[in-house]
Amino acid sequence: MLEKILGLKCVKCGQVYKENEVLYHCKKCGKEGILDVLLDYELIKKEMDKENLIKNSEYSIWRYVPAIPIEKRENIQALKVGWTPLYEVKELRKILGIDKLFIKDDSRNPTASFKDRASAVGIAKAIEYGSDVICAASTGNAASSISGFAASAGMKNVIFVPKSAPIAKIVQLLVFGSTVYLVDGTYDQAYDLCYEVSKEFGWYNRSCAINPYLIEGKKTVAYEICEQLNWEVPDIVVMAVGDGCSIAAAWKGFCECYKLGLVDKLPRMIGVQAEQSNPVSRAFYKNTIEFEYKAPNTIADSISVGIPRNGIKALNAITESNGLMIDVSDSEILDTIKFLARNTGIFGEPAGVTGFAGIRKLKRDKIITGTESIVTVVTGSGLKDIKSAEKAVEGLITVKPNLEDFKKVYKNISE
Ligand SMILES: *Cc1c(COP(=O)(O)O)cnc(C)c1O
Ligand SMILES: [Zn+2]
Repeated sequence: MLEKILGLKCVKCGQVYKENEVLYHCKKCGKEGILDVLLDYELIKKEMDKENLIKNSEYSIWRYVPAIPIEKRENIQALKVGWTPLYEVKELRKILGIDKLFIKDDSRNPTASFKDRASAVGIAKAIEYGSDVICAASTGNAASSISGFAASAGMKNVIFVPKSAPIAKIVQLLVFGSTVYLVDGTYDQAYDLCYEVSKEFGWYNRSCAINPYLIEGKKTVAYEICEQLNWEVPDIVVMAVGDGCSIAAAWKGFCECYKLGLVDKLPRMIGVQAEQSNPVSRAFYKNTIEFEYKAPNTIADSISVGIPRNGIKALNAITESNGLMIDVSDSEILDTIKFLARNTGIFGEPAGVTGFAGIRKLKRDKIITGTESIVTVVTGSGLKDIKSAEKAVEGLITVKPNLEDFKKVYKNISE
């Protein structure tokens, strides 16, 4: 048992369990009873403060290892996750009229998405539990991420992805050597199948909503943002929302920085969903924690979710931080892939730029003034879904390989 874990608390009914009493969720509430890991911040404070962070030369999520509930450092894999760049994006600030905009590029993680923060912890936990097999259901990135980490740890892994997942993400799985089941159904169905199978076969389940420890990895994004801003908390943090784990994790991280005395305020959390895949948004505006299923339909596959598996935690993050939810359309997302890439050099996948698409909308709708400090995270690389990006661009010019012909087709680029 880990000293710093005080217990595991159900987000639905509030019941607190001992660390070894439950594995995934609340005994009473079932799958909706997602657990939150309660940590002893007084203990963590003794191992981590601003002064010893200055001397810390570990530039990855493990910089914050005192706050991450794993047993032994030996179980940490070599793949480097986190301490991704937080850019000041000067061009974008001018164009958008947002003076203090920052973009954190999490596509720079080893398997090219934010999910690596979670997998790094998930694999360490799987090793701790002595599991032989780790499994996951995923819209794509969680799968390719755990697949990479399982490869680094030499652990067998079984992956369930909907057959609609972008090919680059599926190929990642095969290259890393996973056993892959393409589920003839939706992500929601893949998720349920993985859950049943993991129970039946006794495999360790990496699905982020079900497994309380994965958020403990994702929360490091907040620690990094705070430290990279020299412990000044942004006014607003904008995140894409699918299942809701990521925004809930970021919020937990900010709250912890506050509890640990590293920062003196908290940001407002704004969640962004795709218009046709927005159950968290709908619940937020209806003021309920009951999520209504509607078949999702969006180009942003990573946030194409009918039932948000961590919706309650996400809503808690939004309401506790006095934030809000907004939706953006697929055409706004597609346009943002191009807009972001052309003004920063950062190429995000559709869900990866959805947070930023939200910021553009917030400014257009005057929900923000432009004087706030705002951070968003690009959560996945554009190279993971070339087909979608292709829809946003045009302008290929074919030329015969001689100067004459070039002059004929040349368009003056300074015009
Ligand atoms: C998973 C994912 C998200 C959303 O995270 P949730 O925890 O499901 O809300 C956003 N962007 C990308 C690229 C993702 O892979
Ligand atoms: Zn419960």
